[in-house]
Formats: sequence, structure tokens, C-alpha cells
Amino acid sequence: MAKIHSVLVVDDEASVRSLYVDALEAAGHHVRVAMNGQDALDRLRDGNVPCVVLSDVRMPRMDGWDLARAVARDPQLNSVPVVLLTGDRILSFTSPARDKPFSVVELDALVQRECQLHRESLPAGR
Ligand SMILES: [Zn+2]
Repeated sequence: MAKIHSVLVVDDEASVRSLYVDALEAAGHHVRVAMNGQDALDRLRDGNVPCVVLSDVRMPRMDGWDLARAVARDPQLNSVPVVLLTGDRILSFTSPARDKPFSVVELDALVQRECQLHRESLPAGR
């Protein structure tokens, strides 16, 4: 059986958040959501540190680039991988952001690959 990971999904679009939650939970992972980079950073600094952050690029208040930079600069958080995802095909070819996956299989493969540290030990029954 594949490993279970904890994932923070960051996207300003509610429909994308719920799609990602459904797909990642279907793959057995534990999922939390944030609506933009600042919201994500607040949650991360509250101690809810996931194995991996999957973040949209273009969002109000704080975008994905600024979120990734803020996480990299924070000594408590800088080992958490932030994967930037975009629905913009051109941006996916011209920047480090990846094309947004939507299927359960693709999202699970991405999370399995990115989570190598598995920082959070998940208590049973949560
Ligand atoms: Zn993990």
C-alpha cells in the first residue's frame, strides 16, 4: 500500500480546492486547504506542517512564488517542499511551475514523489 501523506492545498478557487481534496482523500492522504499564500503561511506557522504543499501560482494577497520564498526563508518550514501548480499551459513551460494535475493517479504520484521527509506522524483515527 502507498504511503499516506499530509498535504496542504493552496488555491483561491473553491472548485479547485474541493477537487483536490476529493482526489487526495481518495488516494488516502490527509488534506488541509488554504485560500492564498498568506492564509497558507498562517496555517504553516500555526504548527500545521504538512509533508508537502501544493500551491496555485496566481492568487490574491500572496501568490505562489511569494509563498515558496517565504517558506524557504523560514528555518522552521524550509524543509517543506512547495510544489507550484498552474492552469496556465504557457507558464508551465516557461517557469518552474507545473501543469495542474487533476486525476487521483496524477496527484497521488506527485505527492508520493515530493514527500520524502514525511515530517508529520499521523495519529490514528484522524
Ligand atoms: Zn508524507
